[in-house]
Amino acid sequence: MAWKTLDQMDLAGKRVLTRVDINVPVVDGAVTDATRITRIVPTVRDILAAGGKPILLAHFGRPGGKRVDNLSLQQLVPTLEQALGAPVLFAADCVGPAAQAAVDALQDGQVLLLENTRFHKGETKNDPDLTAQMAALGDVFCSDAFSAAHRAHCSTTGLAALLPSCAGRLMQAELSALESALGNPRRPVTAVVGGAKVSTKLELLSNLVEKVDTLVIGGGMANTFLAAQGKPIGTSLAERLMIDTANGIMTKAEGLNCTILLPRDVVVARRFEANAPHETVPADQCPEDAMILDAGPESVAAIDAVFQDSKTLIWNGPLGAFEIEPFDAATNAAALKAAARTASGDLISVAGGGDTVAALNASGAARDFTYISTAGGAFLEWMEGKTLPGVAALEA
Ligand code: AMP
Repeated sequence: MAWKTLDQMDLAGKRVLTRVDINVPVVDGAVTDATRITRIVPTVRDILAAGGKPILLAHFGRPGGKRVDNLSLQQLVPTLEQALGAPVLFAADCVGPAAQAAVDALQDGQVLLLENTRFHKGETKNDPDLTAQMAALGDVFCSDAFSAAHRAHCSTTGLAALLPSCAGRLMQAELSALESALGNPRRPVTAVVGGAKVSTKLELLSNLVEKVDTLVIGGGMANTFLAAQGKPIGTSLAERLMIDTANGIMTKAEGLNCTILLPRDVVVARRFEANAPHETVPADQCPEDAMILDAGPESVAAIDAVFQDSKTLIWNGPLGAFEIEPFDAATNAAALKAAARTASGDLISVAGGGDTVAALNASGAARDFTYISTAGGAFLEWMEGKTLPGVAALEA
């Protein structure tokens, strides 16, 4: 790894500017899912344990470069204190006199949360002046927001050029997991890509056929591939304009010895709604007036067989319309198979992306996966093979 961890930094007595992602959902002032806050705990605790002073930098929502009262990070202080088990002070700005006074007053054992970085226009422009003002508040930069690492902002990228820098525990865990899945994986490697559309995951599919031994394609995007093979898909969600692209991906895969696994049987219904009357048909026999909403049991058996022979799995996107029962069946069954292989030590399994995390949580499989990334866009860009500016900056 070309980046440093907290263990390689001298933190005693140091002000540690720590970029975290605590962009949690809030409804009526209450945090409805504190996962992102829970995930920064190891980093903050380790900084405190090493005698450092954690100063948290974070964004919240999209205020567009101006102060928006209901996007103040102050509302997260009680949840942070509870999660961290330490007093959390708050500064009403992330730079300038208010921030400086709060930093100066910070005592050992306390944590300081600075106000929403995106209240400043310069943040999302990686403005050097704003970066310099932030840098003046710390001695060390700890980057722990992998989920924001695909953006070159002052607090994700800029600071790394001005201060001695390292990855926090969450960043370290994300990068290690991703590296083990696609960087230098144990083979055979399988990727599962599902979800609605080919168009949003084109680069991802294209990169994966270069890296994996088997690519399982499911969900709505599989319909476009089935159509590309000349199979009828009825009223299914599909992108007719992407048929040539789908053919191109299949041709590329063939040339690279990557096997593409498409559904062999499909569950079809006449309406996109929970418990709609449905039937299972071979993948080339979707009735004209029906839509494909899930992969069938034969498809799941084929996926299971691939998992059985795989040593590494990377997963993004559901295999069907998982939000409406019973069209979550293939996603759940395949996820549980992957979880069981992981639990027995036979598979390294990494999954990520918003819907994927929800689907794997719903199936109960998530807890046995080797790693579940909570980063949405950054995880996808990484799967696409892109260099993330926030990671590159740590390596520089
Ligand atoms: P994505 O955000 O691209 O991962 O797509 C996830 C969405 O794709 C979920 O909302 C699923 O309900 C939807 N989806 C998956 N399979 C199908 C399908 N066969 N027909 C319609 N929607 C689907």
